[in-house]
Amino acid sequence: MPGPLGEFELIAALASRLEAPPDGIGIGDDAATWHPTPGMLAVATTDALVEGIHFRLDWTTPRDLGWKALAVNLSDVAAMGAHPRHALVTVAMAPDRADVVLGIYEGIGECARAAGVYVVGGDTVRTTGPLALTVALYGEVHPDRLLRRAGAKPGDVVAVTGAVGAAAAGLRVLAGDEPVDLSVAAPLVRAHVRPQARLHAGPALAAVGVRAGIDVSDGVASEVMHLARASGVEVEIDLCQLPLHPAAVATFGMVQARDLALTGGEDYELLVAVAPGVLGVAQAAVAPHTGLTVIGRVTGLAAGGRVRYVANGDALGAPGTGYVAF
Ligand SMILES: [Mg+2]
Repeated sequence: MPGPLGEFELIAALASRLEAPPDGIGIGDDAATWHPTPGMLAVATTDALVEGIHFRLDWTTPRDLGWKALAVNLSDVAAMGAHPRHALVTVAMAPDRADVVLGIYEGIGECARAAGVYVVGGDTVRTTGPLALTVALYGEVHPDRLLRRAGAKPGDVVAVTGAVGAAAAGLRVLAGDEPVDLSVAAPLVRAHVRPQARLHAGPALAAVGVRAGIDVSDGVASEVMHLARASGVEVEIDLCQLPLHPAAVATFGMVQARDLALTGGEDYELLVAVAPGVLGVAQAAVAPHTGLTVIGRVTGLAAGGRVRYVANGDALGAPGTGYVAF
């Protein structure tokens, strides 16, 4: 296998960057095992990142890339209201890129420790194509505390954690097509290369009775549509209520920051539908870590789902709203 390291040396070097699980079987056997928590539902997700498509190593360090590869999966588990537990990692690499892969595993190990996740196995394979990194993540959730896309009901308010638009703005900063003040824009780049999954907020919201949620991986507009479609409801979003990242507004202006939040993606915040009577306790539940901002409401049933956009309560298209993409 790669470069000066043989396959078994490489696996040992990768494993040394990861923490061994306290129970069950981790790296080093033919397969991994763990003890499921009795009564809990298993949750599984996987996500692949391909060089040239999802990342460029001149825009991110291998370490940040490893962090992100696990973090995007953590976000999907959090969006189910679940707790992550174990991960499998598969890397396809050219033989001369062992150093990059070792760096990636530093970041995976760092993110795993921060999340309390154990990487219990995976595979390293040779390729003549671009570097590809696939993480499979397993978690668990109590069956009564599952967040689903299909849970939104008429009368619910729609809310989002944290701030939106930062990661897409960071990508635009990295693209370098326009001069920006890097002292202002640095948090945007960081949001793009090193996202923080809402690991606490997902289960915390589920624990207080929230049942509808999705993570913001593809931009607020697309996630709201997924929620509306799966729930069979009409959602009204007030563009003026979007919690835009202040550095995105400072760097690109209000209108473009809004566009980046709606269509950019990779914020990994959580978008939820909450019964109005639960909103206060839901905001308190996430408050130790983040905010929960109301951005709209579920206005009624609509087969196939529908999303309407307003600005300060006025139907969009009114003069001066500045946003015409819909
Ligand atoms: Mg998702």
